[in-house]
Amino acid sequence: MTTIAFIGLGNMGAPMAINLQKAGHDVRAFDLSKEAVAKVVAAGATAAFSAQDAVQGAKVVVTMLPASQHVEALFLGKDGAPGLLASIAPGTLVIDSSTIAAATSQKVAKAADAAGIDFIDAPVSGGTGGAIAGTLTFMVGATAVQLARAQPYLEKMGANIFHAGDVGAGQTAKICNNMLLGILMVGTSEAIALGVANGLDPKVLSEIMRRSSGGNWALEKYNPFPGVHETAPASKGYAGGFGTDLMLKDLGLAQENAMAVKATTPLGGLARAIYAQHSLGGNGALDFSSIIAALQAHPPKQA
Ligand code: NAD
Repeated sequence: MTTIAFIGLGNMGAPMAINLQKAGHDVRAFDLSKEAVAKVVAAGATAAFSAQDAVQGAKVVVTMLPASQHVEALFLGKDGAPGLLASIAPGTLVIDSSTIAAATSQKVAKAADAAGIDFIDAPVSGGTGGAIAGTLTFMVGATAVQLARAQPYLEKMGANIFHAGDVGAGQTAKICNNMLLGILMVGTSEAIALGVANGLDPKVLSEIMRRSSGGNWALEKYNPFPGVHETAPASKGYAGGFGTDLMLKDLGLAQENAMAVKATTPLGGLARAIYAQHSLGGNGALDFSSIIAALQAHPPKQA
């Protein structure tokens, strides 16, 4: 049994922390939202009063926060306040599973290294369903030794663990994946909207495409049309899941990265613009599959 501090208990972090607790670890849970902490405490974890309190006595720290600025402010501090690294004991392993800029992971890892702390990036794919089932895919940026340390914990939360390269490489792999996901969700939504506008049944059309050359992850598990997959966010008023604003952040990270290395990513850029428009329309908190509403003459009802 290991004492694990888990910070960031949102749609993804809460089920991940619960899986670590269920695996017999002693999870010390912290989130800015008391309701989020209460969910994880109900599964047996201990509530921490602050991030500093959570890391006391912890051998491992896991973070699952929204974006780069949250991770940087937490670990390195902000406005003169000291960062969490100052409260973490040397020798501790920190696993950051948030999707953030690779440069931020590298910056925090450098400061952690100077304090004798192992900081690795391990962003995930698999959605909230994968987080609950413990079948996430981890994309890890770390040394081989650091990955070996993290492996037993990652295995309790995920089914696939990939070593992408050195620190930051997990984030680069993740934004490549999410750029593709953003593009394919727009494309899948367009195709379903076209079929439905022609009178096709969305379930029948989705099944045809799933088993044809257009088959993809959205058609398998995360259909954007309500009622096709009972457990998908589309069938729950687009609540929960992976927020439009989080997808917008990831598409932005991909574009920043593409500019830095002079890569050509026209569809990634277009998908970012489509999601930005959707967010401006007041849909930022809805699941990203709600993008289908932007592509339909008669969109499905939303939460
Ligand atoms: P979320 O918004 O549901 O949860 C984030 C949580 O972090 C919130 O509960 C918030 O209160 C908490 N938080 C923010 N700042 C904090 C701080 N300083 N201290 C403590 N808690 C703090 O987001 P999510 O959907 O769980 O996503 C988390 C990360 O995982 C993001 O980087 C996202 O891009 C990535 N991700 C999400 C999904 C998904 O399907 N939702 C899938 C893969 C990756």
